[in-house]
Amino acid sequence: MDCIFCKIAEGTIPSAKVYEDEYCLAFHDINPQTPVHVLVIPKAHIASADEVTGENSVYVTKIFEAIPAIAAKAGLTGGYRVISNCGEDACQTVKHLHFHLMGGKKLPEQMG
Ligand code: AMP
Ligand code: ZN
Repeated sequence: MDCIFCKIAEGTIPSAKVYEDEYCLAFHDINPQTPVHVLVIPKAHIASADEVTGENSVYVTKIFEAIPAIAAKAGLTGGYRVISNCGEDACQTVKHLHFHLMGGKKLPEQMG
């Protein structure tokens, strides 16, 4: 499958790694939108939040269990936003589930 995040998870495409375990990988976004912008991806191909099922939800659970450590390692001491874009209206560009951890400054309350 031609999926860039699967390739990053396999290590065939390099990434600026922040954290890794059996279930997930966290790395810095190549085009950061905030001073700290980390992506957390499952090490299994799940296309989006719309594709989470009872069979694969362990990846989501494990990601959220790891998020506090990932945020701390990335220096997100003042708080952070967790975002997952799903589908066209949300402008999801990479069709492999990922969670944006964003922060490093006071973020605007409204998305605009
Ligand atoms: P989304 O628009 O929610 O699908 O987010 C995809 C994110 O992946 C964007 O913020 C991109 O900047 C980021 N991205 C795409 N390719 C790479 C890559 N090779 N390494 C790191 N981040 C990437
Ligand atoms: Zn994938």
